[in-house]
Amino acid sequence: MRIDLHTHSNRSDGTDCPWQLVHNAKRASLDVVAITDHDTTEGWIEARAAGHATGVGVVCGIELSVKNAGRSEHMLVYEPDPDHSELVGLLARTNDARRKRIPAMVARIAEGLDEEKRIDLADVERIANGGTLGRPHIATALVDRYAVDSIEDAFKQYLEPGCPTYIPRWSPQIEDALNVVARAGGAAVLAHPLGRGGSVDERRLAELKKRGLAGVEVDHQEHDQLARAELRGIADGLGLIATGSSDYHGLRKKDHDLGCNMTSLEAYERIIALTPQRLQQSSNGRSRTGLTDVPA
Ligand code: AMP
Ligand code: FE
Ligand code: FE
Ligand code: ZN
Repeated sequence: MRIDLHTHSNRSDGTDCPWQLVHNAKRASLDVVAITDHDTTEGWIEARAAGHATGVGVVCGIELSVKNAGRSEHMLVYEPDPDHSELVGLLARTNDARRKRIPAMVARIAEGLDEEKRIDLADVERIANGGTLGRPHIATALVDRYAVDSIEDAFKQYLEPGCPTYIPRWSPQIEDALNVVARAGGAAVLAHPLGRGGSVDERRLAELKKRGLAGVEVDHQEHDQLARAELRGIADGLGLIATGSSDYHGLRKKDHDLGCNMTSLEAYERIIALTPQRLQQSSNGRSRTGLTDVPA
């Protein structure tokens, strides 16, 4: 079974529309793909429809921005009720913060650029095309205007914490997000905790597990072999589900091809068992394993 539980569409900072994402999953011979756009459920309906058309099992998720002990981190959430009022409220507040932060960063960056390279908010909004606004859209605008050579350079020069043009934004505390996710019936998995200078301590993970964390993403492109081994050991010891995923962003991220890391069937089934909505769909539906969704 080929299962990839972390991908992005153009509803956030990927480049495939949800339909293309699922078709590309089919081409990559995936049996299951999760759509996990940043802080939005917008792509779900289109992705599910594409799942029916292609026979690819589509899991609906979100990659939530959270603060974990002061650090900005990401948490994958699978199959929560997308209409749960607290979840809707949390996503609205996060996206509100994005819509304030991105124009402020664009203004700071533009100040330092020569006229022919100067990006503006309209460029960035056109690139985001109605999806969740994020720094990668600023990065693409900078590449398009030849202000930087690559997305990576855009982050290094303008978009990372520590750059004078960086502006932080609000996101919920992970404890609060875990409470909301539990009430919305979702399963929570900490995304790439050892990516980009991240660290985990076992006590902290144990604490998060007590607060409802179900798993941790172990196999991820930002984790080297040593990091994966360490994290897998900790996850196994604590009874956290270890997942693996591509974190595919279409053309916006290199070396994140669909299926480049995958989740075992056992881990996938443990996650799905935690999500009442999804379980109900599969028990009513055509497929015993829940791999093919049924229309609502
Ligand atoms: P934002 O949603 O605005 O906080 O931007 C976060 C997104 O930017 C994530 O999807 C990351 O994949 C991407 N990102 C963060 N840091 C970097 C980096 N150094 N190079 C490329 N992409 C990055
Ligand atoms: Fe992203
Ligand atoms: Fe992430
Ligand atoms: Zn991601």
